[in-house]
Amino acid sequence: MIIVLKPNTSSEQLTLFTEKLKTDYDVTINRWDGIHSTVLGLIGDTTRVDIEYIEAQSIVESVKRVQEPYKKANRKFHPENTQIKITDGVTIGDGSLHIMAGPCSVESEEQIVSIAESVKKSGATLLRGGAFKPRTSPYAFQGLKSEGLDLLKTARRQTGLPIVTEIMRVSHIDMFENVDIIQVGARNMQNFELLKELGKTDKPILLKRGLSATIEEWLMSAEYIMANGNSKVMLCERGIRTYETFTRNTLDVSAIPVIKRLSHLPVIVDPSHAAGKSWLVEPLAMAAVAAGADGLIIEVHNDPPHALSDGAQSLTPEQFDSVAGRLFSLKKAL
Ligand code: PEP
Ligand code: MN
Repeated sequence: MIIVLKPNTSSEQLTLFTEKLKTDYDVTINRWDGIHSTVLGLIGDTTRVDIEYIEAQSIVESVKRVQEPYKKANRKFHPENTQIKITDGVTIGDGSLHIMAGPCSVESEEQIVSIAESVKKSGATLLRGGAFKPRTSPYAFQGLKSEGLDLLKTARRQTGLPIVTEIMRVSHIDMFENVDIIQVGARNMQNFELLKELGKTDKPILLKRGLSATIEEWLMSAEYIMANGNSKVMLCERGIRTYETFTRNTLDVSAIPVIKRLSHLPVIVDPSHAAGKSWLVEPLAMAAVAAGADGLIIEVHNDPPHALSDGAQSLTPEQFDSVAGRLFSLKKAL
């Protein structure tokens, strides 16, 4: 971190300030005296340094971070890829392609079990399904809630597929005890209380990117979970809001190699919520695999026109079968 001091800073002010930085943050300080101003270089772990406190000091002209504010999620301090074992046969980040597939919302036992059976046949290794749904309208279907969780477990019993489903509240964490991967939705990416509590569990977390979050903000949310003790975090790119309205969101394909460079955490891509249209799911999913994604999460519904949520972006089981086949062929070719 580089701090530029204002001209005319007295040597007493300078000593007071540098001593405080050293004791508060355990850093060493290099100092350069120029003709007009003095520059300080802070060396050491500056992740805990409060940049706003420094900016607020009357002798400070400007501050610049030269190191990323995230540490545990940073590849610099953890060069090898993180692998997250979900079950005996499923490890995410091990170089193989994993597809999580299933409906946006769990609607009935028959629906979730039949979708689970068919996506499994097509090569999906995890079952997705929302039980608690964050809907834009309070009048829209809000999910089957705890009954939905039970139905996911029924589908897991019948197919062996591990389950991934979204949590919305801290008070529900106990209810998610038997879920294999807990999803934090885009709207909750900065629900810091939820992130902190999930950090105290040992559950794998699928952390979706917020609708308008920068890559750094997203990594800082991962850092919240990791700083509390849980390093099993997967980052899910699901499209961000741009000025384009043709698609539901804009899939940020560049985020995949960027995250891979900045972080060691696995990257999962959700082409369904990025696209908003079922015919766009295949090309976006192919692009994600080509760009280095470790996995995909894809919405599949047995009867998309009658789905209780996100029907327009849901593939039928037959469409999913063909898309999955092409994705695995592409992965093999790569
Ligand atoms: C979902 O997965 O159904 C969902 C609501 O996703 P997102 O949080 O990305 O909108
Ligand atoms: Mn959905």
